[in-house]
Amino acid sequence: MGSKTQLVLSRERPPPLRSAPLACAGAVVAGLFGGTPALAQDLAVVGATVPDLAGGPTVEDAVVLIRDGRIAALGPSSTTSVPDGVPVVDASGTWLLPGLMNMHVHFGLVLPGAAGAALVNETEAELALRMAAAARASLDAGITTVRTTGERGHVDLALQRAIDRGEATGPRIFSAGESVQVTGGHGSEAETVANDGPYEFREAVRKEFRAGARWIKILISGGIATPGGDIGASYMTVDELEAVTDIAHRLGAKVTAHSGSPSATLDAVAAGVDCIEHGYFLTPDVFRVMRDAGTWYVPTILVSQPGTLPFFERIGSPPWYLERVEAVGRRHWSALEAAIDEGVAIALGTDQLPHEPNDGTIATVREAEYYVEAGMTPLQALRSATIAPARMLGVDGDLGTLEVGKLADLIAVPANPLEDVSALRDILLVVKGGDVVRDDLGME
Ligand SMILES: [Zn+2]
Repeated sequence: MGSKTQLVLSRERPPPLRSAPLACAGAVVAGLFGGTPALAQDLAVVGATVPDLAGGPTVEDAVVLIRDGRIAALGPSSTTSVPDGVPVVDASGTWLLPGLMNMHVHFGLVLPGAAGAALVNETEAELALRMAAAARASLDAGITTVRTTGERGHVDLALQRAIDRGEATGPRIFSAGESVQVTGGHGSEAETVANDGPYEFREAVRKEFRAGARWIKILISGGIATPGGDIGASYMTVDELEAVTDIAHRLGAKVTAHSGSPSATLDAVAAGVDCIEHGYFLTPDVFRVMRDAGTWYVPTILVSQPGTLPFFERIGSPPWYLERVEAVGRRHWSALEAAIDEGVAIALGTDQLPHEPNDGTIATVREAEYYVEAGMTPLQALRSATIAPARMLGVDGDLGTLEVGKLADLIAVPANPLEDVSALRDILLVVKGGDVVRDDLGME
């Protein structure tokens, strides 16, 4: 019996993140070093315009020199030279940006309807392969970092480790593990684990952390995909919320809450939750409380807007789902406008696959365009997909801007994205950790 317990424990415990010397540095974060298992060769990206999304001066005719997966030099060609023998990507006429970051992703997404029904007997092995394919396509589309916000069987953590080891190709993954919920709430089908009372929630948080999750995703109200569920409901009690944030924060993890409900959100913010997802029915007064508390907001506006209806029809969503999208959409839009207006810290997330075709582009880019339509400047929208998520994840020393010393995750677009964020519709170059993932420019 003892050996059986040990077996279970060792299966659930993540392997060491890195070999000993690097782990001693103390700053190793799983997901951060993916794509550079054998350090990428040197590379120079030349000729592009590099705006500084943090507010510094723009560099024209830039030389970006990449060494060991990081930016080793960045400056105008007049003062920054390319050492002999370094491969060069000529990006003249383009604008370079940090790789895009999408903070609400389910690579194993299953929605109500025909496409979801076809996956009812999917094994975990099949799920892993489906998720690996989605991760590869997301990176190819220019999304170099994601936060997974609830996946089955901790497959996202296996994928994260496979990507970190170079066995699979995909974005850097920051995982919220499996979602944690109450019995009878959103996400608690008959076969899923549900929790009741602070003791069970403490245990659930510790189990997610043991599995490798560094975010905890709780579901505190109904959602669009809950048939008959009340988006305005408040599922978790205050002592349950406080149990989750207490344990997570003791362990150094952060907590994000699926919430459409003003009352549930206010309880969650008071309990110290770090981030709110969706916020379908949130009002200006709730956003003011979030802003003052420093709580992040990930809108996923896309999923409730008419532009996504063709997607829902394509996957055979049932009529009740389409009706809920329609009913929620307008209030969700007002919530987004209010959040921007009140100055809440916003990080971009889609709740669709990052590269999913949507309204003539991909979900991640369409989401950024919606932010501009709802009141952001293009710069603010670009920041919501780069420097803001890096800060939210606590990795802005390594990601989020193009600066010397940071990881070389970058994309090139053919027009000035600060004038029109739709420049992101045409991503010509994707580099992750100094590895050229996609090059439509042609290497010299
Ligand atoms: Zn979601």
